Amino acid sequence: MSRSLSHGRQVVAIPGPSAIPDRVLAAMNQAMPNIYEGDLVDISHTLFEDLPAIARTSGEPFIAISNGHGAWEMALTNTLSKNDRVLVVESGRFAAAWGAMATTTGLEIQTLPGDDRTAVDPNHVESALRADPNHQIKAVLVVQVDTATSVRNDIAAIRQAMDAASHPALLMVDCIASLACERYEMDDWGGDVTVAGSQKGLMVPPGLGFVWVNEKGMEAYKTADLKTGYWDWGPRAGLEGHYLRYCGTPPIQHVYALREAMDMLNEEGLENVWWRHERLANAIRAAVTAWSAGGDVSFNIEDEGHRSNAVTTVLTGDIDANELRRIAEQEAGLVIGIALPGFGNAFRIGHMGHMNPPLVLGVLGTLEATLLRLGARLPESGVGAAAACLASDLAKAE
Ligand SMILES: *Cc1c(COP(=O)(O)O)cnc(C)c1O
Repeated sequence: MSRSLSHGRQVVAIPGPSAIPDRVLAAMNQAMPNIYEGDLVDISHTLFEDLPAIARTSGEPFIAISNGHGAWEMALTNTLSKNDRVLVVESGRFAAAWGAMATTTGLEIQTLPGDDRTAVDPNHVESALRADPNHQIKAVLVVQVDTATSVRNDIAAIRQAMDAASHPALLMVDCIASLACERYEMDDWGGDVTVAGSQKGLMVPPGLGFVWVNEKGMEAYKTADLKTGYWDWGPRAGLEGHYLRYCGTPPIQHVYALREAMDMLNEEGLENVWWRHERLANAIRAAVTAWSAGGDVSFNIEDEGHRSNAVTTVLTGDIDANELRRIAEQEAGLVIGIALPGFGNAFRIGHMGHMNPPLVLGVLGTLEATLLRLGARLPESGVGAAAACLASDLAKAE
């Protein structure tokens, strides 16, 4: 027996894996089908048909049975050759981790340093590329949203910077945290290779990695010499050999899950999905702004224009963030994201995917109670501010 308010359904608001809709969970609950013909193959084909629209591209989609790290490797090995140089545009933690993987894959990395509080400055990208007149840099690796800092980088501006330097490198974008949360226009913005995973905005359990490639990326594929048997796009590219699409047995439960999740995204409409994420993120930001008035709590990302709609990193000053997370989880049934190393007292709220006002207000209210329990000075209610913010987004009957 234990006395605690945490009984009831636990709410997990970490920046991935995100909440799985009941519809998606139910879709997965099926026995093994024939994997060579019939429904599964038909459903799987529709996934490949629908995937380009999610990244706003006419490029080719690939699915790896992997997490995001696997998709990173798939992107690198299919487009680059041993000792090629890549420019890693540092932004928080994840671009650097992608760069570290590039190193072990046989690439040479050049790092454009960034920091944990601000977005990538496109002018720095332009300067780095102008300093490479012989075009030794073959690819630029950048994250749209860094999940550690909660910064959102301006991908269109980074492409413009590359064009301003007249540099032919491929633009490779990590949208793992942001796809189906933040607006992303692969073709319009000039992404050549886009990477994502299933467990964030796409509302599917971890286990699928996605890569989208445009013609320029497919051209690079022809000469890339880092290809390996499993990741190689070549055998996966045709629609005839369904089995080869996954380089073997399909991830059956994930195929069902992704179909259901994409149906949900299509029913809502991608523009509306982005709108909902923005509005819910506005409510969360209204709460953090209100809390900030007391001086204990603050945003990690100072520039409002670069705060992500998928995740928010909150600094808690002298308030012990580990104790905050412990109380929230054990006493109140709310799991919030741990700060990644180097952030001091901080926590992260994941607000990607299957989220709505009751969830967001519940998360904020529980955090507010926990902050108060720890003695944080909160002269204004964050929950009140969030509710006021959401009020204008609730449509009234005419
Ligand atoms: C989650 C995440 C990753 C890593 O994805 P895994 O599925 O854990 O391998 C990479 N980049 C970003 C921006 C992420 O949010």
